[in-house]
Amino acid sequence: MNKHEILKKYFGYDTFRNAQEALIDNILEGKDTLGIMPTGAGKSLCYQIPALMMEGITLVISPLISLMKDQVGSLNQAGIHAAFLNSSLTVNQYYKALAFAGQGRYPIIYVAPERLVTKEFLDFALHVNIAMVAVDEAHCVSQWGQDFRPSYLKIMDFIEKLPRRPIVSAFTATATKEVRDDIIDILQLHSPMVITTGFDRNNLYFGVMNAKDRYGAIRNYLETHRRDSGIIYCLTRKQVEEVCERLIKDGFSVTRYHAGLSDEERRKNQDNFIYDRVPIIVATSAFGMGIDKNSVRFVLHYGMPKNIESYYQEAGRAGRDGEPAECILYYSSRDVITNQLFIDNNQDNRELDEVTRAIVRERDKERLKKMTFYCFTNECLRDYILKYFGEYGSNYCGNCSNCLTQFEQADVTEIARALIGCVKSSRQRYGTTVIIDTLHGANTAKIKNYRMNENPYYGLLSKVPAYRIRQVLNHLQMEEYLLVTSDDYAVVKLTAKSGQVMEDGGQILMKLAKETGRQAREARDRDKKRKKSSFSQDLFTEKEEGLFEKLRTLRLEIAREEKVPPYIVFSDKTLAHMCVVKPKTKEEMLGVSGVGEFKFEKYGERFLKCLL
Ligand code: ADP
Ligand code: MG
Ligand code: ZN
Repeated sequence: MNKHEILKKYFGYDTFRNAQEALIDNILEGKDTLGIMPTGAGKSLCYQIPALMMEGITLVISPLISLMKDQVGSLNQAGIHAAFLNSSLTVNQYYKALAFAGQGRYPIIYVAPERLVTKEFLDFALHVNIAMVAVDEAHCVSQWGQDFRPSYLKIMDFIEKLPRRPIVSAFTATATKEVRDDIIDILQLHSPMVITTGFDRNNLYFGVMNAKDRYGAIRNYLETHRRDSGIIYCLTRKQVEEVCERLIKDGFSVTRYHAGLSDEERRKNQDNFIYDRVPIIVATSAFGMGIDKNSVRFVLHYGMPKNIESYYQEAGRAGRDGEPAECILYYSSRDVITNQLFIDNNQDNRELDEVTRAIVRERDKERLKKMTFYCFTNECLRDYILKYFGEYGSNYCGNCSNCLTQFEQADVTEIARALIGCVKSSRQRYGTTVIIDTLHGANTAKIKNYRMNENPYYGLLSKVPAYRIRQVLNHLQMEEYLLVTSDDYAVVKLTAKSGQVMEDGGQILMKLAKETGRQAREARDRDKKRKKSSFSQDLFTEKEEGLFEKLRTLRLEIAREEKVPPYIVFSDKTLAHMCVVKPKTKEEMLGVSGVGEFKFEKYGERFLKCLL
């Protein structure tokens, strides 16, 4: 079979996505390969298809048991023999799997990196033909990445022990140059072909909300997305507990995940989410790697993460099936302080010496600042993220909250001058709140204490709403006309550019959202313009919507019988395609994206019946 036939027969897809074919061809030519593609782009197929075409066994190195289980489950459902070897197996199961593997039953075997150099595994590996070692989540070899795993360093030791060097392929979604270079060096790839696709996930909508009542905002969101499955990320365990509890009280079906729960509860809650028994999970950043559930329709952030890397990784768990999904960050200025505390008390860096620790801390604060600016910017959010990763977007994506808000250019020079003047006259000693309260003429104990009510700028902007003063202050910070220090006190300081604003012609313009009836209209416009995140709301007629629900119920039933998560039976996308195509025959059913021959044999008829 050629690669196209395999794609159709086992995976049920008609065409390769952009970089997949080049990566597969390169591997088939016997060359080392590094594929850097965003989450959901379809990296797995790039090693699975060559694995089925090459003489010999492909070992896939993967960092997490849950990831392996998922992938092997998917392959077996598609009719491909695959197995995993990791610590979730009992000793007996492990030896049995190794024995089967030795007989050549599995073209694809997933292995935990720490198993590679054990005696039992080497005994096996030295006596079979290993065609390829595919390293999934390859950024785990790099200390620059978020998820460094020392056991990944064993991969090279293992390869060196083999009588014949296999092809080595590596895959990751992490884009930075440091990580890429590390992967090539540490895995000792031989003049690899490196393919990087764009990092844009154009099916994701990005939004930032500056909500006073964050909980209320999130509850409203959930109320209008009743049927969808999603993740709500919080900054702390305490927040997870609070949000989860309130949502349960408000009648939502939610579960929770954070490092403070027992292993057992974590596993149970994660499974409930993955198996679609509970649609919503509230979690800290501990939840995530290895969550391959591809029908996550939204990722909400109750609080700002510590950097853009984390944000994009977490938000990227939405819409892995390629269908529209939403990523919304609910921001509060308190998040900056929480994150600063995390950075200052970071326990992960304990082994580092004093100097290195200081450098790391500085770097983390710089990253936090870039994250904060993401929440302030009025420019295209997608563009902001892509630029951060060194790519250039189009300045207008039409699918983020900034692109969908009407802005007008406003002259804020007066406010800017008052801010800079106030900082200067109070000798750069105070934080943002004191400066804003002074200009606004607030009558607080703190203001009196600092005698800011005697400052010449006191009350100068009493007619300007405080939020507007803060917006301008944020803007000045982004444009480096002012600086907010990132030490314990977060003091507003002047910069080399501050003086320019005070000079004649030192005009400051900024984009501000149009005011009149703004929010209501914005929300309406947005809903009209953007693709909806729920399949059911937009794509379907009412009849099809009922059909989709019927298919989902059948899928759940089959998933229970097969003991796999529902999305491994068929993705939401495949079910949606069925609703539109309404196949009546086997041939028509095989034309649906995601329906391969093996799956058709197994449960195709039941779906056909359901569609009658
Ligand atoms: P990654 O590892 O890059 O995050 P996966 O390999 O898990 O992504 O694939 C994400 C989803 O895309 C899966 O549901 C997969 O079946 C689907 N997919 C992969 N390749 C194709 C393709 N050529 N056409 C349609 N869907 C695909
Ligand atoms: Mg993957
Ligand atoms: Zn945009």
